[in-house]
Amino acid sequence: MIFVLSGPGGVGKGTVVQRLLEVDPHLRLSRSWTTRPRRPGEDEDAYTFVDGPTFEAHLARGGFLEFDEFLGNLYGTPVPDTLDDLDHDLLLEINVQGAEQVRRHQPNALVVLLVAPSREVQEARLRARGDDDEHVAQRLAIAETEEVKGRALADAVIVNDDLGRAVAEVTGIIAQRRTGR
Ligand code: 5GP
Repeated sequence: MIFVLSGPGGVGKGTVVQRLLEVDPHLRLSRSWTTRPRRPGEDEDAYTFVDGPTFEAHLARGGFLEFDEFLGNLYGTPVPDTLDDLDHDLLLEINVQGAEQVRRHQPNALVVLLVAPSREVQEARLRARGDDDEHVAQRLAIAETEEVKGRALADAVIVNDDLGRAVAEVTGIIAQRRTGR
């Protein structure tokens, strides 16, 4: 199965994903490819960091399940080796445009949208990453439209005001989907 945790930047998707992986050994995180340069201090495993031609060549080979351009950089989910791994479900942490593509190709994928409790909290989270003012403003503007699209697409919308509760809600939804309810 494919579980998609989507949402605009700054809503705390990465933190929720880390917790999900800690509590659920049957989830396997898909590592995205990106042409964005690695941020100072960012984990080198956060993405498969590649240059534009490498990304484009992989795309031309049909190597991505979905991809999107975000603020001038490409991001994509590599096609998984197998979707028949009965022990593991694939977890994707991607933006709303990517979630729309996954849904189109894999109608059974579960899409959960994570949203911030307020614009202020979201802005503070974006700033904490060290992005400059212009980038923060651009990301906030994109976030507004992504949230509207995401709400229309998602199976569930979760407000990330309390990390423990948000993670518990996502695990509950995943458990329901696994048991087919
Ligand atoms: P960032 O540059 O902050 O790491 O990521 C920018 C946006 O791209 C975030 O919303 C992030 O979730 C999204 N993103 C990361 N990986 C992928 C991917 O493989 N596909 C898509 N569509 N979006 C991604």
